[in-house]
Amino acid sequence: MTTETIFSKIIRKEIPADIVYQDEQVTAFRDIAPQAPTHILIIPNKIIPTVNDVTAEDEQVLGHLFVVAAKIAKEQGIAEDGYRLIVNCNKHGGQEVFHLHMHLVGGKQLGKMLP
Ligand code: AMP
Repeated sequence: MTTETIFSKIIRKEIPADIVYQDEQVTAFRDIAPQAPTHILIIPNKIIPTVNDVTAEDEQVLGHLFVVAAKIAKEQGIAEDGYRLIVNCNKHGGQEVFHLHMHLVGGKQLGKMLP
């Protein structure tokens, strides 16, 4: 199922978001409820609801998410100190928006990976 979420509206700029990067494949914008000084979501423009829905066709765009993550981390000045990339899946992963997204979090010393 490729049901639209609020992220499709952000991609199409139908609702406001602080977009830091966009190209024909991906969009990156600041998380509305940041968990760290830098908290940016990087998403494919194509709807992939969860990691469970990923197919071999998505390899290129998902690789591109990492390329864009590295570029944004550098631009935000957090690359050298480091950061964390997180992709949540479904209930146990704590996924709330069913449009696959990579969280780029950094700008401070992060805690243990799992609380
Ligand atoms: P997840 O729990 O991995 O599905 O993460 C969803 C993230 O989307 C959360 O960190 C929310 O704060 C964020 N979020 C939800 N709505 C918006 C929005 N309109 N603009 C920016 N971030 C959002």
